[in-house]
Amino acid sequence: MVFPAVQSTNISRSSQGGHSISQLCGSSQAKDNMNLAKVSQVQSASKCLHQVLRLATLQRANLRSLTVRASVAAPERRQESVSKQSPESLTITQPDDWHLHLRDGPAMQSCVQHSAAQFGRAIIMPNLKPPVVSTEDAIQYRQRILSALPKDTPFQPLMTLYLTDKTTADEIRKAKESGIVYAVKLYPAGATTNSAAGVTSLDKCMAALEAMVEHGLPLLVHGEVTDPSVDIFDRERLFLDRVLAPLLARLPDLRCVVEHATTKEAVEFVRSQDATRVGATVTPQHLLLNRNALFQGGVRPHHFCLPILKREEHREALLGAVTSGSPQFFLGTDSAPHERGTKEAPCGCAGCFSAHAALELYATAFEEVGALDKLEGFASFFGPDFYRLPRNSKKVTLRRQTWTVPDEYPFATGTVVPLFAGRELGWSLQQST
Ligand SMILES: [Zn+2]
Repeated sequence: MVFPAVQSTNISRSSQGGHSISQLCGSSQAKDNMNLAKVSQVQSASKCLHQVLRLATLQRANLRSLTVRASVAAPERRQESVSKQSPESLTITQPDDWHLHLRDGPAMQSCVQHSAAQFGRAIIMPNLKPPVVSTEDAIQYRQRILSALPKDTPFQPLMTLYLTDKTTADEIRKAKESGIVYAVKLYPAGATTNSAAGVTSLDKCMAALEAMVEHGLPLLVHGEVTDPSVDIFDRERLFLDRVLAPLLARLPDLRCVVEHATTKEAVEFVRSQDATRVGATVTPQHLLLNRNALFQGGVRPHHFCLPILKREEHREALLGAVTSGSPQFFLGTDSAPHERGTKEAPCGCAGCFSAHAALELYATAFEEVGALDKLEGFASFFGPDFYRLPRNSKKVTLRRQTWTVPDEYPFATGTVVPLFAGRELGWSLQQST
């Protein structure tokens, strides 16, 4: 069994708070070669023990904070064990989703309500077919999104432009003046779904990038090199070194979001940058799953996304980043629905659909490390702060209530399989004013 974080269906209570020793050792052993000399086995065991001790320390610290918050949420209770010291509910400022794929047409109509039920605003990614390359495209796409929702739904789509080799400085100016475009997305050509029209060389985009600096529009980066000779698990790390670091040096005032950060190197890179200038979004799947989830008992197409799931050490680094209280890391689901048949195919599409239970999934991840008190900053504060927008005033409440994620949801003329399909989640979102 290879889900170190959430392999049990009792994720909400009995196993909350961290890993068991066997889980940790199991993940460490997975890295070991059976033919290693004894000395390396001793080192491995030592490392494993070190991880256990580190997590035990973390849990003790978190236990104290949970006790305080539990007493606020349910003062009549006098908890006696770890499992009972988790809060029964969590009320936070309404979150926003800073990375969302809504698709278009009937597909968009069938998935947009999931996001509108959870989030106040969302950064809408522009990789449609054809992509959203102009302000006029963005205005029309925004209108289609709003038209797909019941009248007076307070959900606000924050539009983006798709950067191409041909994007002009004048188009950037128009985008800013429109008041509905909030960022520009960089897809290296061929990096992911519908990225064929993406950027082949940043040299060709300098006028647009300089205009973004001038008008204060951030660059949102799909940070993977596209060289097919580079191992798929190394593509993010190499992008940071080869592409993003030189770009940030070349344009010192360009603000940037490393979208869907997946590696410890990305965490370190972001942390090394000015916090007001470089941020990162983190998805629920990269906080909850490691790359073993791609092959658990067989190929798991619904766990395939780009950037691809990484090793356990990277998942732990991401969890550490989002629960650190750093304002550089904020919520971005990268919810990317595909019709079931296009995932379960000889060449399946990349993308996980998580909008159905985004907050519940994040809460599960935060609770795993006893850091529910850090969820609000990550989900509701740091994103609008980075984008220089007001925080939402509405509140939402997560209640401790176990439910089973449906096997599928309607999607266009077919269905979409959601993240954690058929599995239990221990939190349920309820709206309040
Ligand atoms: Zn995306």
